[in-house]
Amino acid sequence: MNSGPEIITVTSPLLPDLDEYNKLLKDIWNRKWITNNGCYHKQFEAKLCSYLKVPYISLFTNGTLPLITALQALRITGEVITTPFSFVATTHSIWWNGLKPVFVDIDPTTCNMDPDKIEAAITPRTSAIMPVHCYGNPCDVKRIQEIADKYHLKVIYDAAHAFGVEKDGQSILKYGDLSTLSFHATKVFNTVEGGAMVMPDESMKKYIDYLKNFGFAGETEVVAPGINSKMDEVRSAYGILNLDIVDSAIEARKKVAFTYREALKNVPGIRYLEDMPGVKHNYGYFPIFVDEKEYGMSRDALYEKMKKNNVYGRRYFYPLISTFTTYRGLESSAPSNLQVATLLANQVICLPIHHNLTDNDVNRIIELIVS
Ligand SMILES: *Cc1c(COP(=O)(O)O)cnc(C)c1O
Repeated sequence: MNSGPEIITVTSPLLPDLDEYNKLLKDIWNRKWITNNGCYHKQFEAKLCSYLKVPYISLFTNGTLPLITALQALRITGEVITTPFSFVATTHSIWWNGLKPVFVDIDPTTCNMDPDKIEAAITPRTSAIMPVHCYGNPCDVKRIQEIADKYHLKVIYDAAHAFGVEKDGQSILKYGDLSTLSFHATKVFNTVEGGAMVMPDESMKKYIDYLKNFGFAGETEVVAPGINSKMDEVRSAYGILNLDIVDSAIEARKKVAFTYREALKNVPGIRYLEDMPGVKHNYGYFPIFVDEKEYGMSRDALYEKMKKNNVYGRRYFYPLISTFTTYRGLESSAPSNLQVATLLANQVICLPIHHNLTDNDVNRIIELIVS
């Protein structure tokens, strides 16, 4: 048995009311239609479009398969420019398509791909850019689009962190050619496992719906080697209920983020990210960056100290994707090419942030960092 104070985890899944969910499950049991574009699937897509303010969306079983499918749908070839400061699925999706990832360093103030460094990474084989809205901070979508237009590249945003994020009143999911979301249990909005792709037009929506269903376009016609990645009715119903409560969960996260910022603003050697002007954030993560010299303790020592006190942060993203066996041999994986990303990966701890944290919990976490 664990001893000491109650365990505080880095996140906690947003769960729908069980009685409400049971009612929907009863209905699904009565209908006996449990997957393959059922009524809850359709309803969930419609509700998401209106919540996220996007024209078209296609639901998936997780957040990795829409990334893989986006590259397939846009017929990307050769090299894809991406960021090493992300969850490994971003780069894996490039590898799964038989493409070569090319890593570009990040900007320390947003943790996103540094737009100033993209052009130098473009070669005649480059056909796409796959940036990540890291921690839900919007990429410089305008600059990235300008570069993409100049070199005729496609842009696929891994928006796994960016559920509900808006910039100047517009959904961040509307930029680029396609954007993908993850509804994994650890994300701001979850369907246990799940994900989605956002697309600008109806014909792409139709094609993506084929691709996530083996390529079937009707009963007897298969138009492409698609995968099976359809979201089922059980999780669609769960998602519909969670959509009703996600705003209050984001509000609770926001309160935690502001408490952290206030408490940590004068702690030497601890840096955190600020809200960006004109951006509606979702407060999915609260990364801090520990400068060992100034703070007087290493990132790992602080991480272990928190753990010993039953506070579980997460070194997210550490190690960098470019250091994993599959990718470390690439020229662009050289640490000299990724100096900012390397530094931040060695400094970062994501502090616990979720809708179930109490004031007491937050104070306990702050106390461990300031003392
Ligand atoms: C979570 C995540 C994914 C993968 O999503 P899954 O739903 O776990 O497959 C991809 N990219 C990023 C940046 C993520 O955080």
